Amino acid sequence: MAEFAIPVPPIPLVPVENQAASFPVHRIYCVGRNFADHAREMGMEVDRGTPVFFCKPADAILPGGGEQPYPSATTDLHHEVELVVAIGRDASGVIAREDAGHYIYGHALGLDLTRRDLQAAAKAKGLPWDVAKGFDRSAPISAIVPKTARVPDADALLWLSVNGQRRQAAPLSDMVFDVADILHELSLRFELRAGDLVFMGTPAGVAALHPGDRWEAGIEGFATLAGSIAAAAQPL
Ligand code: MN
Repeated sequence: MAEFAIPVPPIPLVPVENQAASFPVHRIYCVGRNFADHAREMGMEVDRGTPVFFCKPADAILPGGGEQPYPSATTDLHHEVELVVAIGRDASGVIAREDAGHYIYGHALGLDLTRRDLQAAAKAKGLPWDVAKGFDRSAPISAIVPKTARVPDADALLWLSVNGQRRQAAPLSDMVFDVADILHELSLRFELRAGDLVFMGTPAGVAALHPGDRWEAGIEGFATLAGSIAAAAQPL
């Protein structure tokens, strides 16, 4: 029997809709600049040849959303609402676009929370994005819906509101690289495994979340998710 030098960290788990079983998270891959209007608002253009990838730690997930503290080290926390793809099978090598569906267990709705000030500073210096993207509770996520139960429509509206005001809204069909493209491209760079999550990128309208804000998000006809940023601590 294996022995461990320290307590074994828990496996990050995402609930599966209408099931007792949970989805164990292996890795979180994220796609940057996958909606042309969002790339533009960031001052970039989409490179249709090469998707932008980055990662978050598996334990950055915040299943079910809910209240979370305002993160440390930032004064410009941004929301990014995204479709999430959950991988259900190990890939042995490159995934062909036409086979991508075979590897999908299901889908979810997630937020790629971003410390935009730290990202801007990293971009300016040509440094990595990790501290801007991979922080604790930076990936609120809904329950995963198995594809056998339901899949999002190809042109379903992806949306996010803050305090009742719509901030982001675009059809999933606006994605520059679709899910098949992205699984193929990821498989050229990484060994995709059952348990991987892929955050597919966000449309325009990213903006700040402040202490006390409540957000709601959805993929029309598919899933919703809500959460809030804890109010700032009151001075004594
Ligand atoms: Mn994103």
